[in-house]
Amino acid sequence: MRIAEIYKSIQGEGVLTGTTSGFVRVTGCNLRCWFCDTPYTSWDPQGENLEVSEVLQRVQALKCHHVVITGGEPMIYADLVLLCEHLRAAGHHITLETAGTRFLPLHCDLMSISPKLANSIPSLERAAEWRARHEKRRHCPTVMHQLIDTYSTYQIKFVIDQPADCDEVVHYLVNYPQVPRNRIFLMPQGIDQPTLNAKREWLEPWCQQQGYRYCPRKHIEWFGTIPAS
Ligand code: SF4
Repeated sequence: MRIAEIYKSIQGEGVLTGTTSGFVRVTGCNLRCWFCDTPYTSWDPQGENLEVSEVLQRVQALKCHHVVITGGEPMIYADLVLLCEHLRAAGHHITLETAGTRFLPLHCDLMSISPKLANSIPSLERAAEWRARHEKRRHCPTVMHQLIDTYSTYQIKFVIDQPADCDEVVHYLVNYPQVPRNRIFLMPQGIDQPTLNAKREWLEPWCQQQGYRYCPRKHIEWFGTIPAS
């Protein structure tokens, strides 16, 4: 597997916000969101090829019960199945973060799915060929159903940039009536606190009104602005 970084930090998004965790960030992604906050795993993928045993060894050195496998898109690596088996055998709690476009039959304790809305498409100027590929790949209903049906513990997170995106979420979820509203997290798009605060003003009340959960992206509050790509 090609790995961008393995490190210890605090989960800043979703149901496990505030939980100290070991993060395994794979590099490589089948999408190209314009707002990607880890461009070194997508637009300009960087990292080293590691055997599963080496990844495991580095994770265990962090001494964290919770392990978050993120990216990039982890599901593009078949080796992930073996890594998750070893992590489970070692007693770790595993969160798997995916955009919900690929499926692997792996063990995890929290399937964290972040489907990409129309607001994610890259600009023509930036990457014409990726624009078409991204649009074709970003929504995979078959994979979404497979993930929701296979994993009893899951959360779904959407990145919201404009108020109109909220309508798209409602429309999107019509196809998944079995998903309880308290498993839906809406996160403002942004890599700095002032941008997040401005969007929070209209997004948080809307979430409360609809029964969805507002997801403030606490890691930006705790650790500061993410450098622009
Ligand atoms: S799916 Fe995630 S890692 Fe891939 S380009 Fe989009 S935001 Fe970046």
